Amino acid sequence: MIVVLFGPPGSGKGTQAQFIVEHFGIPQISTGDMLRAAVKAGTPLGVIAKSTMDAGGLVSDEVVLGLVAERVVADDCAKGFVLDGFPRTIHQADSLISFLKESGKSINFVVSLDVDRQDIINRLSGRRTCPACGKGYHIFFNKPVCESVCDACGTTLIQRADDTEETVINRIDVYDEQTSALKKYFKELGVLFCISGSGQISDIQAQIASILTSGGIGDHS
Ligand code: AMP
Repeated sequence: MIVVLFGPPGSGKGTQAQFIVEHFGIPQISTGDMLRAAVKAGTPLGVIAKSTMDAGGLVSDEVVLGLVAERVVADDCAKGFVLDGFPRTIHQADSLISFLKESGKSINFVVSLDVDRQDIINRLSGRRTCPACGKGYHIFFNKPVCESVCDACGTTLIQRADDTEETVINRIDVYDEQTSALKKYFKELGVLFCISGSGQISDIQAQIASILTSGGIGDHS
């Protein structure tokens, strides 16, 4: 089963991808995570990508396609995978479909998580992460017991460089200009399911589970 989680930054793709991993036993492929790992490791690719990512722009199709092409042929992807944050351009989508076709595969489901612009700004600009253990927090919705300190390991929490309000606004604009057109593209492929990405995480999980097991919920037009 090949699933694409689609939606603007902050729509909950990462959270829902984790649910799919646990519930359906397929790996998550997050291009954002892969790029952040390259930046952290200081690889040549990471050095190239860092300034674009910090500004909220899109890393070149060539770089991202190289990462994905290498990842999807790994053994753990044989039964499928869930893509999170990819594809983000029509060229990325065309390339994905072409290289899946070479091995007789295709995208089974695209789940679009729809969230209002102001909700995204509130969600992302309040997001904080523990740099040591990776635990996530939010300054309003999921506060640590002691301000700015990780409950689990006591490390001072940080804000992702691209989660400042100014960069979040740029990321949403980039999404509107370069990525949102993919919704029509996936609709024409007949694989698009639209659900609201606002509300209880467990409700959204239930809707996703229903789509992936029976293909029967959400706005599948
Ligand atoms: P994300 O964690 O998915 O929000 O991605 C963080 C950043 O990584 C984005 O703002 C882009 O700079 C870069 N990135 C992630 N995925 C892609 C992609 N498919 N195409 C281009 N850039 C990407």
